[in-house]
Amino acid sequence: MTDHTDRFGFETRAIHAGQEPDPRTGSVIVPIYQTSTFAQDGVGGLRAGGYEYSRTANPTRTALEECLASLEGGRHALAFSSGMAASDITLRALVRPGDHLVIPDDAYGGTFRLVDKVFSQWGVEHTPVHLSDVDAVRAAIRPNTKAIWVETPTNPLLGIADISALADVARQAQARLVVDNTFATPYLQSPLGLGADVVLHSTTKYLGGHSDVVGGAAITSDDELAEKFAFLRNAAGSVPGPFDSWLTLRGLKTLGVRMDRHSDNAERVVQALVKHPKVTKVYYPGLPEHPGHEVAAKQMRRFGGMVSFTVAGGEQAALDLCSRTKLFTLAESLGGIESLIEHPGKMTHASTAGSALQVPDDLVRLSVGIEDVEDLIEDLLGAF
Ligand SMILES: *Cc1c(COP(=O)(O)O)cnc(C)c1O
Repeated sequence: MTDHTDRFGFETRAIHAGQEPDPRTGSVIVPIYQTSTFAQDGVGGLRAGGYEYSRTANPTRTALEECLASLEGGRHALAFSSGMAASDITLRALVRPGDHLVIPDDAYGGTFRLVDKVFSQWGVEHTPVHLSDVDAVRAAIRPNTKAIWVETPTNPLLGIADISALADVARQAQARLVVDNTFATPYLQSPLGLGADVVLHSTTKYLGGHSDVVGGAAITSDDELAEKFAFLRNAAGSVPGPFDSWLTLRGLKTLGVRMDRHSDNAERVVQALVKHPKVTKVYYPGLPEHPGHEVAAKQMRRFGGMVSFTVAGGEQAALDLCSRTKLFTLAESLGGIESLIEHPGKMTHASTAGSALQVPDDLVRLSVGIEDVEDLIEDLLGAF
């Protein structure tokens, strides 16, 4: 771990943590160690770094992990082949048959599916709760509750949960607090500093930032948990390849500047939507009337690039809008430099239909990119 980087600011660490020029060649950028295995000097004689086989560890991945740990302020980071792989291994480390989880009532659709359709088959129970209501979370705790799973802001309704208040609830219940920090990123919000035990990411989104790689990460300062994660990941094999690790590491270097621009653009788009006669409600934690605004202002540096809104005319009007924008590409995912638009009810959150997590059918979600904001606003207004 490059401890010396911890005295530097976020953007310096994003560029340098875990990344020394290569001692042999001077390569300024960490090479893509595209190799499955490493030569040994005699049986068990591993060379510098102790690399053996790339499922267990790979130098490009190590650089990414050191950078991620530094940015989240954790002692350990593990990179995964996807955000869901990170969630899967985190769950396997935290719960056993007969245990119970508290999850957000508007959790990411894939997370809900993993808990509701997969872990339930192994006897793991769950209760969806509106996490902005701390008393409701406390009331949902059972003697067998092993983890409170937090997303803030949530997807797609941009609900806000008070991380430090939920950390207190978890501590009292001797449960772990897991925070999916995908929407906020470590530039805007530091869950470990607020008392979380584990921070999760879909690095596919803002951390990679260019919609060109799928990946995930789990960060923790708990040595025992980190060891469990590493054991399970090596046992199950859900690792990112060297090139995917390198792409994510490259994305991280500009995270700070991108997040500021995403936030600037989102704020301007929100102003335009709030004034529009066909918009019935705008969900953005930066709005003073958002019920989570105060908590968000306390725990986030800015409010990020995700915006959701409902439209007059119901589901059909929402679907029509999604199909008429030109700069906003109709696609799932989020957090890339380019703007995306989608209909959560029919796309990312289709798996929640009929459940407590179902989203409004007139809802549209935007991932506001870093293009010229005037062009984005014109595109959206033209699509109404
Ligand atoms: C996308 C996403 C995930 C899942 O990550 P993948 O990289 O797609 O596997 C988990 N949580 C949130 C909040 C997400 O947006």
